[in-house]
Formats: sequence, C-alpha cells, structure tokens
Amino acid sequence: MPLKSGFIGLGAMGAPMARNLARAGLLETVWNRTPDKAEQLAAELGIDAAETPADLARRCDVIQLCVSADGDVLEVIDALLPGLRPGTVVIDHSTVGSETARSAAAKVRAAGGDFLDAPVSGGVEGARAGTLAIMVGGDPATLERVRPVLAAVGGRIAHMGEIGMGQATKAVNQVLCAGINQAVCEALTFGRALGLDLERVIDVVSQGAAGNWFLEKRGPTMIRGVFQPGFKLALHHKDLTICRAMARRAGVPVALVERTLADYERLMAEGHGDEDISALLRLSGDTPTDRDRRP
Ligand code: NAP
Repeated sequence: MPLKSGFIGLGAMGAPMARNLARAGLLETVWNRTPDKAEQLAAELGIDAAETPADLARRCDVIQLCVSADGDVLEVIDALLPGLRPGTVVIDHSTVGSETARSAAAKVRAAGGDFLDAPVSGGVEGARAGTLAIMVGGDPATLERVRPVLAAVGGRIAHMGEIGMGQATKAVNQVLCAGINQAVCEALTFGRALGLDLERVIDVVSQGAAGNWFLEKRGPTMIRGVFQPGFKLALHHKDLTICRAMARRAGVPVALVERTLADYERLMAEGHGDEDISALLRLSGDTPTDRDRRP
C-alpha cells in the first residue's frame, strides 16, 4: 500500500512540496493555519483539506510539516498529537534548532509515533522541481520506511545521524548562504562601480569557478531592484540566530553570522523583512530602487 501523507504549512516551500507529493500519488490531505490556502490547494489537487492538524493526523501514515520557526513546529506538534496513530512518522522540513527537533521527537515518540528532522535546501525553485537537498536526523529504519515521500520532494536525501543532526547540517548550510549573499552583494556593487554591465558579468562568471546557485537565480533580479521572495530575509535572520547559539555552545567564532545578523536587523527595522534575502544589496545604497529615490 502506498504511504498516505498529510502536509502542514503551505507557504512558499510547503505548497510546491505538497504538489509534488500529489503528483507521486502520496498526498492524502493538507492543513494550513490560514484555511483559504489549504482549501485552494486541496481544490486544485482534487483532495480534501483537513479541519485541524489532529484530523489530518487521523488520516495519514506520514505527516510532513514546513512552518516558520521553532515555536510554530512545537505548536503544530501539540495540535496534531490528539489524532496521531501509533506508528505514524512526523517529518519536519522547517528550519529550526536541533533542540527543537529533540523536543518534537520526544513528544511524538511518547505518543507512539516516530519523528525525523528533515530540513531542506534548494529554494522555492528546488521545491517546485522536486529536487531539494534533504538533511535527515533520526532512526535510519524510519527513514527507509518513509523514503518514498522524501523522494517525491527531494533529489538528494542524506542521513546525517541522530535526531537534531539534520538541523545541525542545515545550520552549516545557512552560514554558507550568509557568506554567499555577502560576497554576491559586495561583488555586484564593486562591478557596478567599475562600470560593468552586471547582466553580462553574472552570465559569464556563473560559468566559472565563482558560479553559484544564488548568483544565478537571484543575481538577475537583485540588480533590477526586485527582491520578491524566494527566501524571506526575516526567516534567514531566524536561522542565523539559531546558528549563533549553536556556534556559541560549540565555542566557534562566526564573524560572518554576526555581521549578517546586524545587516538583516537594519533592513528589518526599515521594513524589508518580508523581502528576499537578496535585499541585502539595498545596504550598498546602489540598487535601482535606491537610485530612483535619490534627489
Ligand atoms: P512562508 O512562505 O512564510 O510559509 C510559512 C508557513 O508556515 C505558512 O504556511 C504559515 O501559515 C505556516 N505557519 C507559521 N507559523 C505557524 C503556526 N504557528 N502554526 C501553523 N502554521 C504556521 O515560509 P517558507 O519560505 O515556506 O519557509 C518555511 C520553512 O522552510 C522555514 O522554516 C524556512 O526557514 C524554511 N526554508 C525556506 C526556504 C525558502 O527558500 N523559502 C528554503 C529552505 C527552507 P499561514 O499561511 O497561516 O501564515
């Protein structure tokens, strides 16, 4: 019998992931805090939206979540537990701390289910294409049992160790994203000052050793002053706060994380938290939008 999955959290990442599960014939139902989103997606996919997380849990073998932050994951777990059947596996795709993964796993295991932390990387493009990189913590046998639902949303599934190690790997990924964002913003500002055509710069350097996902996907929009998410800056700020706490516990200095947190805090105070992380370029004071504002 194919697994029946229920998906909770139909945001920029969750909705396209749920669509890929439906394409693979594995999606039973969906739930979203703002009900309209769940009803619209359910109508599009020809399934029913669940009334509550517990209702969703009653109908599924696997429950996948992709919500914003640590408190949200624990809130959703509490709400689904009354409907959880023994043997059900809860998979959390949100980016949260390893501690939260361990707390969530303890709650689910106490109710007779199992839990995997399985944060993802690859952006909304990877979510749409079903090619996300998935970093998994938890029991390897549980991972094998639910592999078909992960294969429906991901291109690379890596078991990283016990509960929390998926999130630890994702924290490393988020530090890399901060560095890449800083490097791309500095390089593009430098290139513009040298009088270069930035579209042509992005095109050619993307083919060489400095090429990277962020430059290729976000470079062309950020140089036009378009910062539609994508990945919301406030969410990356939340991730880097987690990285800072983990780094402090590990005794590792993370200057890049500190600088990026300070930069994001400035942008959030100016009202840019819901923009894509490429809005970091605004701090160069040289995006088309900023130039238009100059007297
Ligand atoms: P998003 O578009 O802002 O969507 C967030 C989703 O979480 C929405 O469905 C929201 O419901 C739901 N939610 C938030 N708090 C909730 C709560 N307390 N109870 C129930 N539902 C709640 O965010 P996203 O970009 O999809 O990101 C989701 C997660 O994936 C985050 O942890 C993020 O760090 C991670 N991530 C994002 C990307 C990316 O490129 N965007 C890539 C990798 C990982 P409403 O509709 O009611 O607001």
